[in-house]
Amino acid sequence: MKKLVTILILAAVFLMPSFAYANGDIRLVIDGSEMQNLSTPPIIVGERTLVPARDVFERVGGIVGWHSGHRQVSLFFGDDVIVLTIDERTAQLNGNLIQMDVPPIIYNDSTMIPLRFPAEVFGFDVDWLAEESIAIVNSPGNGNGNGNNGNGDSLGDISDIPIISLPPVEEPEIPLPPADDVLSESNKEELPWDGTADSDELPPPGAAVLQGSGALARDVSTSAIVTVAHPQTTITALRTPAETGTAAFVAVATLPISEVQYFLLPDNRLVVDIHNAVSMISGDFTATANVPVNGVRAAQFSQEPRVTRIVFEVVGAAEYSITLSADRMLLTVSFSQNRITGVFAQSDANTVSDSLFIQGDVLPAINISTEGFPHFLTINIDNADMTAVGGAFNGGNFASHFSTGQRADGSAYVRVYVHGDWPSFSTAHSDNSVALVLHRGVSGVRYDSVNRELRISRQFSMDISQVQQINEYLRLQHTFVLPPQAHVLGRGEISLLDGFVNSVSLTPDVFGNIHLTFNTARVLNFSIHEEAEYFVIRAHLPRDVSPFIVVIDPGHGGSDPGTHHNGILEKDFVLMLSHKVMQLLDADPFIQAFMTRRDDTFVSLLNRAEFANDLDADLFISVHLNAAEKSPGVINPAVHGIETWYANAESRSLANIMQRQKIQHTNAHSRGLRSGPNLVVLREANMPAVLLELGFITSPDEAARLLGTQYQWQLAHAIYRGIAEALGVA
Ligand code: ZN
Repeated sequence: MKKLVTILILAAVFLMPSFAYANGDIRLVIDGSEMQNLSTPPIIVGERTLVPARDVFERVGGIVGWHSGHRQVSLFFGDDVIVLTIDERTAQLNGNLIQMDVPPIIYNDSTMIPLRFPAEVFGFDVDWLAEESIAIVNSPGNGNGNGNNGNGDSLGDISDIPIISLPPVEEPEIPLPPADDVLSESNKEELPWDGTADSDELPPPGAAVLQGSGALARDVSTSAIVTVAHPQTTITALRTPAETGTAAFVAVATLPISEVQYFLLPDNRLVVDIHNAVSMISGDFTATANVPVNGVRAAQFSQEPRVTRIVFEVVGAAEYSITLSADRMLLTVSFSQNRITGVFAQSDANTVSDSLFIQGDVLPAINISTEGFPHFLTINIDNADMTAVGGAFNGGNFASHFSTGQRADGSAYVRVYVHGDWPSFSTAHSDNSVALVLHRGVSGVRYDSVNRELRISRQFSMDISQVQQINEYLRLQHTFVLPPQAHVLGRGEISLLDGFVNSVSLTPDVFGNIHLTFNTARVLNFSIHEEAEYFVIRAHLPRDVSPFIVVIDPGHGGSDPGTHHNGILEKDFVLMLSHKVMQLLDADPFIQAFMTRRDDTFVSLLNRAEFANDLDADLFISVHLNAAEKSPGVINPAVHGIETWYANAESRSLANIMQRQKIQHTNAHSRGLRSGPNLVVLREANMPAVLLELGFITSPDEAARLLGTQYQWQLAHAIYRGIAEALGVA
């Protein structure tokens, strides 16, 4: 595993100034094997190890759900459900609130969660070998990770579960690397960014705030604003630099402004008060690239007298000036140019790429000009001060050197001189740096749309049995993780648009593995084989490779919670139960099953049916819970039992089977079959389709049964057996 360790060290050496959660080379060993190809390596926050939720908990057989609207992660394992909220230390364990000492965070696009708390709740044994920076996790009944095979039952050591009681502790101090360190890192040969990251992405929440030099902003206004008596005015807008096209914010008034006062607080916040002014502006304004302002807030500061207050969080020793227009109806707060603090380049022989980083006090706003083809690329930086920066580069794969310059209009530029082949390029950014990555375009890859085959010429060696696949069918993406040698294929995207595959992209991950991702027009299966001169990846319709296709539809989701009584929220329960059914279906070699949602997201009724129609599914099973009311808002606790709904004659026999199986497995009261010809989700499905009502959560007794794990598995088995019986594979 030496190679992996080296790669992890390289990933860890990368300390760009904007990432607060600097980590050592942390290794993660689960049940005796070291985790590889993690989307993001483990990091340390405070004294806790955070790991990428999906990679780690799905690897050990758990289910990870992501509720984007609520920024919540649900971990399902065995009987337990843990719900964690990004940036919050309060978690829910089976509905009970629990306080953790570090929150989950988003880091490098991965949901990073504390390892120890969920792992130990789920009965895993977690050990931390501090000297070696190794986290060792053994699943229940698996005690071999420490080389100690005698410890089969490893539920012990719960004394160390880092659950702390309320009130919460203070935020852990997270040291930031000083700016000087960053520049001295510039000659290292790591690739700090996945250069193909989406250039529009926002910096991860929880990333460090912008760091100034510690010096305070300075007022360079050339004249004071004289107070002149005027009637009360109204501030109707605050135009941002993105709107003004300059490094200035402009407050717009309906009548002349009487009086403006401003002052700088010791924490470098600039407070601007507009007197005798009603504020129609309020809230936060997003600061934009190239303005040394971290955030802006505006509000009606006081009613009597009326004061509109605008507060700018200024970064470092920025210069500002405040002026009124001649008619006193525009108040302009201008800031100095973005100070570029470093430009450095590095070359990576493994990925055959060169990366050029431009770091500012704030995120540089760039555009790239290829007018210099085939001699140079120009990176133009709006409103930037480049005067403090020089730089050298001793030659790379594509670039020979770069130069920097300042223009009279206040913009600056970096010119990258190209030798040899003209490269492809992509950009990425953190919150105060941008990177230009020069790389080869895609070569040696050909798509045959007649046979739906991607043919990859064998210019590198690869054991295809070791190639990991990531099937994200709900996002219409399927990824093959190729070994680093596949870098010879270059990187970039090939557009196909043959009705099956829209595009194929090649991008490296932080380990240097090459992600070959199919963006598909519909849900497809993929297989890989090798021929004399090619690796061949073939796209298949699921229909063509599986005898039976089943769609499981967990009802509701996202903004549609379903019904909610006696501690059960329908959308969460039916998702959990559907995952149980999927576990059973996935183990059946004759059936390929899909879910209409795999986490807490909203899916329209029509899309659910269309999803099944597009798959040409054999059966569609929608999973729901019931509620009974005596009158609107008054529940009827006496009603209980199980129903099965169908919309047409073709579905009646399936409904019959499902209802019988459910009653046989649970002994619940049968309320029989129900005809619902206008149920959209059933009516629009082209195959036998049923909606299962698994019980009334308005009945305290039935709700209590539904909360029991054994009962949930009885229901899951009933649904699975019903599907198998209906398909004739029982
Ligand atoms: Zn429902």
